[in-house]
Amino acid sequence: MSIFKVIVSALFPNSCICCGDIINEGEYLCEYCSEMSETVDYTKVCGRCGLPKKECLCFKRVFHFSGCAAPFYNTGVMKEAMYSFKFGHKERVAKFFAERMALTVKSCYSNVNFDVITFVPMTFRKHLKRGYNQSELLARHISKLLKLPIIDNAIISVRGAKTQHKLNYDERFKNTKGKFLANKKVNLNGKTVLLVDDIKTTGATMDECAKQLLLLGADEVYCITGLTTAKNKKKEGK
Ligand SMILES: [Zn+2]
Ligand SMILES: [Zn+2]
Repeated sequence: MSIFKVIVSALFPNSCICCGDIINEGEYLCEYCSEMSETVDYTKVCGRCGLPKKECLCFKRVFHFSGCAAPFYNTGVMKEAMYSFKFGHKERVAKFFAERMALTVKSCYSNVNFDVITFVPMTFRKHLKRGYNQSELLARHISKLLKLPIIDNAIISVRGAKTQHKLNYDERFKNTKGKFLANKKVNLNGKTVLLVDDIKTTGATMDECAKQLLLLGADEVYCITGLTTAKNKKKEGK
């Protein structure tokens, strides 16, 4: 989004969260961005790892979560929208993604009875620097939409991992080890947990967080993210 559009969208709340164009009240996306967004077709992805069936990694790795789902791929306009979280109109972006994520939970996990919702934490330093945790904002909205209690201190982020984007798939899993700790004061005995994050890349973060939730006694952990990454979906933003 250009600086001009950032300013326009700050002045006019009825602007597209992706491109900043003025749109009708109560809407989030302009027609163009709505058409350009790459939604996930649930019939074509693996319910466990959340990847397109052709890319499924469940034979290679036993994940700690029982399922992974997301409404959109991490490409183009949706990638831009998630990025625009940083540009001030974060409440609308959070609401938009939370609504879509809640719908995804209802359709992908229709047979699951969730007890609680929680989210991937940030390190204290990062939180202080940014002022908010994107995943927490999403989780708070989803908690209201799905009427699920939120637990905000189940997982503790103990160290900032090395930047992940230069690492390959296996390195990412190694790099995530020891980054999160289970908060022993929280008891999740027998609970089915919905774990929220903004973007899933390899699933290493979700896997490590799910592991910590299981350590706290959780029965099962299911993940929901706003965006998910797949190999054959590499279209870049405008
Ligand atoms: Zn737009
Ligand atoms: Zn799979």
